Amino acid sequence: EQIDALFRTHIAEFPDFPIPGVLFRDITPLLRDAAALRAVIAHWRTLLPEGVDYVIGTEARGFVVGAPLAYEIGAGFVPVRKAGKLPGSPAGLTYDLEYGTARIEIPEGSLPAGSRVLLVDDLLATGGTAAATLELARRFDVEVLGASFLIELAALGGRDLLPGVEVSTVWRIE
Ligand code: IMP
Repeated sequence: EQIDALFRTHIAEFPDFPIPGVLFRDITPLLRDAAALRAVIAHWRTLLPEGVDYVIGTEARGFVVGAPLAYEIGAGFVPVRKAGKLPGSPAGLTYDLEYGTARIEIPEGSLPAGSRVLLVDDLLATGGTAAATLELARRFDVEVLGASFLIELAALGGRDLLPGVEVSTVWRIE
């Protein structure tokens, strides 16, 4: 209930952002409050599976929440970036959006076969971002131990795009 109260007071809602009809949840008030940030990360880690080698976080807020979680559970952190930001020969995946396509990339050599990974992001909405990240990760023959989100917009059914994956969320909005 303490966590619930934190979300109620620290998540700001912006109607019609970034496009009309979308209610955007802004997590920055939660991030900037030292005690709230600590409490949420401490609680979140209790929801995570054991034995994670790498936390995979998606640009950009997946970095912000993924790195402290990785640190807490003694895992490494692997960033999934938007196209064109990584040096060397990153592995990439182009996926469909409602309008057009997007491309995500992961650093060359970052996921050894057989490693155990956890997908993390700030928010699960339609599930498109997480599904694309999952598809990219699976190319490396890794074991996906789960996917975890700070906020889940349950009505959008995003977890249906992650079949066979253990999904956990800190705050579920029905
Ligand atoms: P999805 O692909 O529709 O599940 O959208 C999830 C992605 O979009 C995540 O990477 C989120 O960071 C971002 N996102 C979607 N809606 C929101 C929101 O209301 N607040 C913050 N981020 C959002």
